[in-house]
Amino acid sequence: MTGLDARAQGLFGLTEDQEIELGQEASAQVEQKEPVLSDPVVTDYVDRLGQSLVKKCGRNQIAYHFKVIDTADINAFALPGGYIYVNRGLLEAASNESELAGVLGHEIGHVVARHSVEQIKKLQIAGLGAGILGAILGNGRAGQIGNIATQLVATGVFLKYSREAEREADRLGARNVYDAGWDPRGMVTFFDKLAAMRQGETSKVETFFSSHPDPQERAQNVDDLIASFGSLRGLRIDTRDFHSMQQRLASLPPPPAKVAAGQPDSGTAPAPPGAPAAPADRGPDQSGYRGQDEDQRIAARYAPVFHVGLASDPRFDYPTSLDFDGDWRTENNAANASASGFRPPAHVYYWLAETETNYFIFYGLYFPVDDEAVAADRRARARDNDFEVCLVVVEKGSQAGSPTSENISRQERLALIETVQDGRLEAFLPNAGLLGAFRPAPVEEGRAILFVAPRGHRVTPYESGMERSSGARDVLLYRYGGRAEETGSYRRDEVGYDLLPLQPLWSWARQADEAHFSDVVDLGRVEVAVAGLRQRSQVRSVTLGRVGVSLRSDPRFQASRLPWGWSPEGGPPGEWFLDPAGDLSDRLRLGEEFSRTYLHHPLLEVFR
Ligand code: ZN
Repeated sequence: MTGLDARAQGLFGLTEDQEIELGQEASAQVEQKEPVLSDPVVTDYVDRLGQSLVKKCGRNQIAYHFKVIDTADINAFALPGGYIYVNRGLLEAASNESELAGVLGHEIGHVVARHSVEQIKKLQIAGLGAGILGAILGNGRAGQIGNIATQLVATGVFLKYSREAEREADRLGARNVYDAGWDPRGMVTFFDKLAAMRQGETSKVETFFSSHPDPQERAQNVDDLIASFGSLRGLRIDTRDFHSMQQRLASLPPPPAKVAAGQPDSGTAPAPPGAPAAPADRGPDQSGYRGQDEDQRIAARYAPVFHVGLASDPRFDYPTSLDFDGDWRTENNAANASASGFRPPAHVYYWLAETETNYFIFYGLYFPVDDEAVAADRRARARDNDFEVCLVVVEKGSQAGSPTSENISRQERLALIETVQDGRLEAFLPNAGLLGAFRPAPVEEGRAILFVAPRGHRVTPYESGMERSSGARDVLLYRYGGRAEETGSYRRDEVGYDLLPLQPLWSWARQADEAHFSDVVDLGRVEVAVAGLRQRSQVRSVTLGRVGVSLRSDPRFQASRLPWGWSPEGGPPGEWFLDPAGDLSDRLRLGEEFSRTYLHHPLLEVFR
């Protein structure tokens, strides 16, 4: 097959065999990451219920596989080719069999309508960067489907379908449930339950709400549809088997705890009594470094637009610099931010690395206080010196030269956005949201549009309605303007921010000065690939030793960690932050088209 044929076929869809193979590979990936419940009583029951629905669905000539993931979250999802997963938390939350049947019917609906294939097509249309999904357009190399599956699972493409796809799956599911003899109103009562849980046990349904449309609207739609079905008399609502399954679940050990990956904000113990009370008011060395102008120019071009949610006490939600109060003491920042007349300059930190193929730009938001804990529990104390980071990966344009059919000349463009969610990294593709492929990561003229939650300051791609769902009282729009405006006038909803290089803070932290850092840890050694003579890649090993990872805080508060102290995926601290190319390449198993060799890495003193 020529490259062009493969490309055309890629664009126009996968064959059924390819879809099933992809599903198989994706399910292997999922099961490597997620604990699958093996208890035969529970799994047989779920499979039996699923298979009896499959008999009456619109695509029953392929094999379906139903499995239970041993986690307390309430969710279910469908991979390509009939691989369906339901979480233990959902089995526990359902009140009767018809509710569970409604959920399984919905997931079967995704398979029937081949929504996953639609997702993949959208990704291709979205034009993913070389190395990210470029392989999907290439010739069928051995093991390629496995690589594609890995990448797709890593980016979460099968966990989030478009709203229209969700509606269609609801329609197909309700009909399927009805045709198979269950009461389709179970779907409606289950949606109502989820809507109610949103008020109470938020954490259990968080994943569900991040990946599904509003359940109230869905309940209404399904209700309307059911009215057209005819009599609902005699349909099955509940069975003894369902409750035996739930009893069995209750007798099993609780779901395994989530891997305790280092939380970005895991903080440290409060500063011990007798800690130096007034460290010297001496800040980082702000002298320039090579590459700063060029770095700042690139970082400015992709500087995100931040919708910053404000809580009832908004001053802790203004992104600013560590020395907003005019000094480099950070243990007084919470107090100074509380002072009246607080109008901090709007600053966003950045640092930029460059490989042969990409720019990696970290944008860091600093807040004097993270008081999410206070909102959740009045007895808990807030955290001081909150530092949130997101990563923007830019694909460099191809050099002018001889573009071949394999190597089409490319424009420089934003390729990937990563944010930290509950201690894990999440990748988003620009504008895929518009195409419905991912949780929206909208981009405006090359700039990611992000939302910063009030109080806890978690950064996510912006989605409309987040203002309300995050509980923000108000929202300020921060745009890069090359000048740090002061935040503070509540009537203005747009603030221009300026970029500050993060490198001086890093050098400061490397001095491991306990007067300024309440937590200093040994980061050991970091090894990255750098371009050597004649662009030959060579390993550069830098011994970091003791580095400050938490800024000194008011001893009554906890201190947040700085990004080089994080280990978002449980690896060594700083892995993502200090070697983004190597980390992404390993984690998303990107191909050779994605270079991990740095040409420029100012934090490790590699300069272009
Ligand atoms: Zn769905």
